[in-house]
Amino acid sequence: MNDSILGLHHITAIANNAQRNYDFYTQVLGLRMVKKTVNFDDPTTYHFYYGNEQGSPGTILTFFPWEGIGPGRNGVGMATEIGYSVPADSLENWAERFRAAGVSTGEPAERFGERYLPFTDPDGLALTLIVPQQPDSRSAWVTSAVGQDIATRGFHGITLTLQKIDATATILTDIFGYRLQGQEGNRYRFRTDSVAEAAIVDLLEEPDRQLGRNAAGTNHHVAFRVADDRVQMEFREKILSRGLQITPQIDRDYFFSLYFREPGGVLFEIATDHPGFTVDEPLAELGTHLKLPKQYTASRDRIEKALPVLRVR
Ligand code: ZN
Repeated sequence: MNDSILGLHHITAIANNAQRNYDFYTQVLGLRMVKKTVNFDDPTTYHFYYGNEQGSPGTILTFFPWEGIGPGRNGVGMATEIGYSVPADSLENWAERFRAAGVSTGEPAERFGERYLPFTDPDGLALTLIVPQQPDSRSAWVTSAVGQDIATRGFHGITLTLQKIDATATILTDIFGYRLQGQEGNRYRFRTDSVAEAAIVDLLEEPDRQLGRNAAGTNHHVAFRVADDRVQMEFREKILSRGLQITPQIDRDYFFSLYFREPGGVLFEIATDHPGFTVDEPLAELGTHLKLPKQYTASRDRIEKALPVLRVR
């Protein structure tokens, strides 16, 4: 078994309106909704999971759509940009697609020798589509509008904005097994060699930037992937030995999780592959039913009435 951190597992962000979030990620970006459940700590709020067909680790973007929540602010102590890997020569197509859908985009540019297109979701969450130097071998979820030639393959990487990068860099290199791959200006690229994809964490050092504020359009936490419980518990010991606090293992129904705040202020999670999203729905039906954790199944009627209506296309 691989004892390393296996790149990114999932990223969790905050949205306002559930329908708008669903429409953007499934229709415009062409992701599959692989699970529709509720926030386990607040079952009047949805928890949406988007990914590839199986919801493979390294492809999963999740949202808490809090109806009516105001916009947050990207800043220090946060994950500030989500990078998706896309096929070569697809950026023009995407730019055209975004223009037609009224999505706000930045100018295409290049970083570490890779072309990328920045854009924001309807809540202002910052994302980029990136053409990786090494072609991405992962299979894509395709829709009638987003075909194999342009479909996202999963995460390329995540950017964290920090006042100073040192302490966070040490967690990445000394505990997680990442190495510094390069630097461009104030952006430091770290990569793990344990996996080919979803292997990148960029640290952006911005000493004068304001602290971020978590609300709509910002990321809540970044989850890293481990092979199994044993490896997860080894990482728990390593984090504790650095004098940091970390939660006990928590059952998230689709994976098991540990949470800790890294020294730069970003909430990190360490999550297992198992049991995965087919634990309570067959592969062909992922995301089509409202799934509730067992503590809420007796209150299903009340919970369904309290949740906003979601029109699924
Ligand atoms: Zn999480």
